[in-house]
Amino acid sequence: MENSKTLYQHGTLALLVPGLLTGTITMGELLAHGNTGIGTGEGLDGELIILDGVAYQIDSKGNVNVLANDFIMPFANSHFANYQELTTISDATPAEFEKVSLDGKPNSNTFFSVLVKGTFSYMKTRAVAKSSRPFDTLAKTAEKQSIFEAKDVTGTLLSYYSPALFHGAAVAGFHNHFLADDHSIGGHVLDFKIKEGAVGIQVFDTLEQHLPITNTEFMEHDFSKDDVASAIAEAE
Ligand SMILES: [Zn+2]
Repeated sequence: MENSKTLYQHGTLALLVPGLLTGTITMGELLAHGNTGIGTGEGLDGELIILDGVAYQIDSKGNVNVLANDFIMPFANSHFANYQELTTISDATPAEFEKVSLDGKPNSNTFFSVLVKGTFSYMKTRAVAKSSRPFDTLAKTAEKQSIFEAKDVTGTLLSYYSPALFHGAAVAGFHNHFLADDHSIGGHVLDFKIKEGAVGIQVFDTLEQHLPITNTEFMEHDFSKDDVASAIAEAE
């Protein structure tokens, strides 16, 4: 049976910092661990969002592409959707969305996902442009990103929350990706305002962390020289 309490993650955010951007998992393998997820392609090739088992890439030109099973990624996560209705939300800023998702608590000690389906009076996203070998560091690739904005757009916001303790493995706090129903905008969310939406929540009790042990660059890299926490905070 599908385990809806497990969040599967391939790679860690930390390996993006020094530019270890080789794709080390295929979309087919990732989808075996879930029908919902986020990630990025090899060389930070756009922003990914997986909804209902379909994997989409928002590229740096703003195009939404459906990805094949042989698409490769350095970092991604997936899980089997089993969201519990939490509430409906209207006229909400990111801070209000986070407060609702955390049920008023200042933080959470476990991973969870939040899905908002609805209308957004404002949406601001970014998509990074693919870098080729030798790959740039995260700070450098983050400079080569496109920003997209839309007003009154209907779509799905997929959010993952990571506890502060795991910063480096993932982004501490909320990490949000978005896809408009008409595919007019999507990507890594920078800012938004929810006009009206249904909020679902799914709490995980297990993080399944998969690492690319057949990738020599990763296995031989000395992460002690990277200022992982602050580089991530800056870029994300
Ligand atoms: Zn992202």
